[in-house]
Amino acid sequence: MESNTLDQIRALKQKGARTPRVIVIGAGMSGICMGIRLLEAGIEDFVIYEKKEKIGGTWRENTYPGLACDVPSYFYTYSFEPNPNWTHRFPPGSEIQQYFESVFEKYGLAAHTQFNTEIADCRFEEGRWQVDLANGKTDSAEFLVAATGVLHQINMPTIKGLESFEGKQFHSARWDHDVELKGKRIGIIGTGSTALQMVSPLSEVAEKLTLFQRTAQWVIAAPDKQYSEGWKRLVARHAWLATALYRGYKFMIEQTLGKAVVKPGWRRTLLNWMCESNLKTVKDRELRHRLTPTYEPGCKRVVVSSNFYPAIQKPNCALVTDSIERIEAAGVRTRDGELHELDVMVICTGFDGFAFMRPMAMTGRDGVTLADAWKKGPRALRSLTIPGFPNFFMLIGPHSPIGNYSLIPLAEGQSMYAMKCIKMYMEKTFDEIEPKEEAVANFYQRVGEALPDTVWTSGCQSWYQDEDGVPALWPWSPQRYMSEIADPDLAEYALIQS
Ligand code: NAP
Repeated sequence: MESNTLDQIRALKQKGARTPRVIVIGAGMSGICMGIRLLEAGIEDFVIYEKKEKIGGTWRENTYPGLACDVPSYFYTYSFEPNPNWTHRFPPGSEIQQYFESVFEKYGLAAHTQFNTEIADCRFEEGRWQVDLANGKTDSAEFLVAATGVLHQINMPTIKGLESFEGKQFHSARWDHDVELKGKRIGIIGTGSTALQMVSPLSEVAEKLTLFQRTAQWVIAAPDKQYSEGWKRLVARHAWLATALYRGYKFMIEQTLGKAVVKPGWRRTLLNWMCESNLKTVKDRELRHRLTPTYEPGCKRVVVSSNFYPAIQKPNCALVTDSIERIEAAGVRTRDGELHELDVMVICTGFDGFAFMRPMAMTGRDGVTLADAWKKGPRALRSLTIPGFPNFFMLIGPHSPIGNYSLIPLAEGQSMYAMKCIKMYMEKTFDEIEPKEEAVANFYQRVGEALPDTVWTSGCQSWYQDEDGVPALWPWSPQRYMSEIADPDLAEYALIQS
């Protein structure tokens, strides 16, 4: 834990410095991180409002078969909370949920969290954020932190007849565990990371599994590995091992995928080679042809899976590439006229990657609404702060370096950035802080200049892109992001004394 700033805040508080109240929205990975930062700094006057009945964000919402994180487990942890108990190289979703629950409990964050409490509306009035909760109660605080995650509003497709299906149908993030899968004819619509993770486990129980593909995906193989009990005991005894693995995986991802996607060069060539050689493991030429994307690897988020290609070649699996004409009571009718009869239909069409804290309503200074501020799409200075919205921070906001990287170090850096601003508030450097329009314009000009070098603009469609096709991602390396947010640059901010 970066203790310097937090120790300084603690010392300031002991000397009687004014201490703000902080409201955190969401008890997922980043909200928990923010809560820990506040506790470690000795700031007790804060609350985390969580709309659901338990913590976990995306790991609470997603419970589909095969759910795992494609970031290695030792790197998919808080840097300050190594976990010796990971059972696999790629952590299963349920273990990640358990990990966050244990960290939440360890730090005693339950005392600061209100579950089943959605925030309906926030307004910045007279130097404070006034918050209306959906349950009719109100609250207020000097600082507001949105830790709402990126992918939490599901994207349901607008396919003709979707509601007419008479079998069982649900979105991947709303898995219905009461539905029997054994011996059923299961259809999956979509071929993103989610869909491809579930193909292998579903193929083991389904009588027939049909994958409806609109666009093929590039897939790299990264074999999973089960950790032995002996290994887990060793890591538990020698904490430095987990830390060394964290650093090793971090370095490896930053040096390979982290750079391949933002700059042409040998890393991108290597990524292309890895994807192409993995595709060559599909033996049937015709199937391989249909699984071959027509865009560059990395343009859409690369799928990491060692079991998708083997599974889709099984006799009980079918890849359907004819586009969907409509959904009918019995299944999916494709353009070639064929009816693919199904008992269970899983909708894996992803999420609205531009929702962030919405549908919550927000009004900043002088009545400016978030809808006004984001008319042309979500914008924030280095994904953290928005002009007109004082004393407000976003964790994992727009243009965070999220493509195939762990979001945890980002949330750690971003929450520390917020803490550094809170420290300055306690030192009376300002009463209100918000980024200057010109700083944001300058940032977006730099982003715009760098984006053409990235693979995300090389010609594909993905949830990364806004309506104009501009990807809302950080177009440089994750290391550069961490260094640019290491310290708030006050020249970029309007500092208001009231
Ligand atoms: P996604 O990547 O957005 O994929 C959605 C899929 O649905 C695409 O194949 C898309 O096709 C298809 N689709 C959308 N609308 C459709 C329609 N009307 N008809 C037919 N097909 C349609 O969603 P996701 O797979 O849920 O993944 C979202 C993100 O979650 C990932 O990119 C990743 O960041 C995260 N995730 C991470 C992990 C992990 O291991 N870390 C695992 C799962 C998910 P097109 O490509 O043609 O648009």
